[in-house]
Amino acid sequence: MLQNRFHSAACKLAGLLAISLLPFAGASAKEVPPPPDYGPWLQALKAEAGARGVRAETLARALDGVQPIPRVIELDRRQPEFTLTLSSYFKKAISETRIQKGREMLRRHQALLKRVEAKYGVQPRFLVAFWGLESNFGQYTGAFSVVGALVTLAHDRRRAKFFREQLLSALELIDAGHVPVDVKGSWAGAMGNHQFIPTTYKSYAVDFDGDGKRDLWGSLPDIFASAANYLSRSGWQSDKTWGREVRIPKDFDISLTGLSVSKPLAEWNKLGIRRTGGKPLPAVDIDASLLVPAGYKGPAFLVYKNYRTIMVWNRSHLYALAVGHLADRMIGKGPLALPPSADDVPLSRSDIRTLQGLLNARGLDAGVPDGMLGPKTREAVRAYQKSAGLPPDGYATKALILKLQK
Ligand code: CA
Repeated sequence: MLQNRFHSAACKLAGLLAISLLPFAGASAKEVPPPPDYGPWLQALKAEAGARGVRAETLARALDGVQPIPRVIELDRRQPEFTLTLSSYFKKAISETRIQKGREMLRRHQALLKRVEAKYGVQPRFLVAFWGLESNFGQYTGAFSVVGALVTLAHDRRRAKFFREQLLSALELIDAGHVPVDVKGSWAGAMGNHQFIPTTYKSYAVDFDGDGKRDLWGSLPDIFASAANYLSRSGWQSDKTWGREVRIPKDFDISLTGLSVSKPLAEWNKLGIRRTGGKPLPAVDIDASLLVPAGYKGPAFLVYKNYRTIMVWNRSHLYALAVGHLADRMIGKGPLALPPSADDVPLSRSDIRTLQGLLNARGLDAGVPDGMLGPKTREAVRAYQKSAGLPPDGYATKALILKLQK
């Protein structure tokens, strides 16, 4: 779907796990030119929506009296104070309460979930895991006026083009009667139990209960089927899982980690990768990539094609791992065999600026010290690790900063 995965993912993050810790959330207020005059801008927006077939009476009901919401701009501009780590993210995303609730939801809605699986090929545990992460099983779907939030972000210049399309799509959905004019959602316009942005809603939401409306608040059949349809059309494999935690051997070549390296399980097996209990990997023909999200000392995961599909939904690795792990926990699998390492502590923006300065001073290009852990900084970390004879996992830690300071 996501013609613009970059921005869509930013918006997905606006849901329950709305932690804008990704580099693209970083543009500061002073870099954004002032917005155009609101009145003429709104008139032009109405004209464009009208040309797309939205009725004038819908436009009047939805837009008359709407003003940009300063709080939305504030949320869009906020800069995280600390990095997100696997341990901090899992603590927030996968509580014992959420696992128990997920199990209960799986049991309670078993018949419906089976019918959805039969049609779309997505296993119930994953639909419930997304549901738990996006809205705490429907308990929190956002309190912002979706139209107000989208007007604000479309009028603002930082991501005007993307949000203008979201706003126009939201107006089309209102006009067609799928969502109410006073619809509430996240500050970035994500809606319903699975926090779909308007373009996702328009393209993937389905009417599974047959009442003529695609209702992602009040109809569980529509809610589950819409999530399943989205995943299915994004490439979900119905007979496979997402991946598994594994054990890597001592002295393993850590440069083989990351989504850019993909090998059949048989090859990973030859390289010494084992199940967490020590047994060989299953003898099935699956391509997998190896991830060490908390550095080489932390847990390792082999991830399959469905993991990449989860990242179409939300491009954050931590989110994708949380969906997979929560789904596993709901069907009785255990916690991580290897908890994240002691190095897995959040770095502050000032820690990262220090790190970037130290790397630059050594001639390793970490870019302008901006306090954000982007790809450039990670590559510089990797280059330093290689030169210092450390496993090059690209993972920035306080210990690494101390070592650089020596
Ligand atoms: Ca319906």
